[in-house]
Amino acid sequence: MADEAGRKRIVILGGGSGGLELASQLAGHAALDVALVDRELSHLWKPRLHEFAAGTVNSSLAEMSFYMLGQLRGFRFEQGTVSAIDHERREVVLAAILGEDGTVAARERRVPYDLCVVALGGVVPDFGTTGVKEFAVRLDTKADADRFRDRFIAAMIEARETGEPAEVVIVGSGATGTELAAHLRRSERGFFEQNKAERRRKLLGITILEAAPEIMPGAEPELRQQLIERLRQLDIKTVTDVNVSRIDADSVYSKSGERWSCDLAVWAAGLVGNPVLKDLGRFETDKRGRIVVDQTLRSSVDEAIYVMGDSASLTPPGADKPLPPTAQAASQQADYLTETLPLLARGEPVQPFRYSDKGRLISLGRAGAVGMIGFGRKDDFLIRGHFATAAYNALQRQHQWRVLGRLRGTVSIAADMISPTKGPALKLHGD
Ligand SMILES: Cc1cc2nc3c(=O)[nH]c(=O)nc-3n(C[C@H](O)[C@H](O)[C@H](O)COP(=O)(O)OP(=O)(O)OC[C@H]3O[C@@H](n4cnc5c(N)ncnc54)[C@H](O)[C@@H]3O)c2cc1C
Repeated sequence: MADEAGRKRIVILGGGSGGLELASQLAGHAALDVALVDRELSHLWKPRLHEFAAGTVNSSLAEMSFYMLGQLRGFRFEQGTVSAIDHERREVVLAAILGEDGTVAARERRVPYDLCVVALGGVVPDFGTTGVKEFAVRLDTKADADRFRDRFIAAMIEARETGEPAEVVIVGSGATGTELAAHLRRSERGFFEQNKAERRRKLLGITILEAAPEIMPGAEPELRQQLIERLRQLDIKTVTDVNVSRIDADSVYSKSGERWSCDLAVWAAGLVGNPVLKDLGRFETDKRGRIVVDQTLRSSVDEAIYVMGDSASLTPPGADKPLPPTAQAASQQADYLTETLPLLARGEPVQPFRYSDKGRLISLGRAGAVGMIGFGRKDDFLIRGHFATAAYNALQRQHQWRVLGRLRGTVSIAADMISPTKGPALKLHGD
């Protein structure tokens, strides 16, 4: 099958870190008709979500319209919420759009494909913990970040008026939890009056709770040591061996009976596949709800469907667990599929995907960035200071180049660098 012009129809589900890079790089390919589907109207690069939440985001990449990007790069954008895949008819089903009164404003649609790529991301699970859904914020979407920021601003204003510091408790000491904590400390400055005495007042208490015996489980010891030191410098408390059992409107409770009072609770513990994957089609999923794929990213049950990023469960040869859910992996998979899908469309053989682990980097606001890099080798080394900050920014620069193309990407990066709001910016409104 193909479109009227004889081009193979490639439909990419999800325009996040991986899906948008793939759509942008594939578009313009003469033999392909590329369509991108997303439930949102604009792209937000998820690795910056915590900055959105803290109000410190400062980039032309903050939000980009999918329609604008589609025109720029040459793919078709279809806004809609993916609800199912019809394997037999090779069609993606998009749910009906309901109006404010609950009636159908736009009916259910079907998008035909020859090859389909699932890039619908993942979500933070609550592991059935009481009160997480009702009282804690999870950073999965821009709406979550907006909600957090509104509540954070209100709590900080109240703290300034009453002199009682606002308390934020973050459950989970992975990259999201620690980076968010550091950026919140940076935001605190925006609420001080401009005289020195005021600056000495503390308006914000931040506590990170971790279930494991040490923070950032899985991190290299040198990196962890650096993190501990920097969190201490930022006056961010960390408590380990805490098994959180319940959250309510003003407290977080542990199984062993401890209680931390808070104005805001953030749940940042773990990641599983997007819940929609469970009922999307007849896929094989792993215990984290991600679709199992082979070494070419092809789903184990349907040769016309490929899966990438946080939605995919890919265990490299010789490894005992699937690749971690990172933008780094999603981006490498986008590059791989950019090369591979045109070959598949022509019925030619393809090489397997090879992941190259470039290390991990943590950005801690004014305490700088730290990380371990090794360019895929075993002897990773610790980096910090300007070098680490530059390496951290490099992931975003690459994303801008891939999405916007070399010329526009370079202009966009230059605009970020000379922006008058560069530095300790506090952006209080997301829109
Ligand atoms: C705060 C934070 C910081 C991070 N920092 C880093 C970092 O420093 N380095 C790193 O490598 N990784 C980082 N990550 C992880 C990284 O963001 C993810 O691994 C990456 O975004 C996964 O890309 P993806 O394309 O699989 O999914 P996503 O980027 O999550 O995109 C999924 C897309 O699917 C769309 N979608 C979802 N459901 C539907 C539906 N039913 N219908 C239509 N569209 C839908 C969404 O709107 C979204 O556009 C961070 C994550 C967070 C939350």
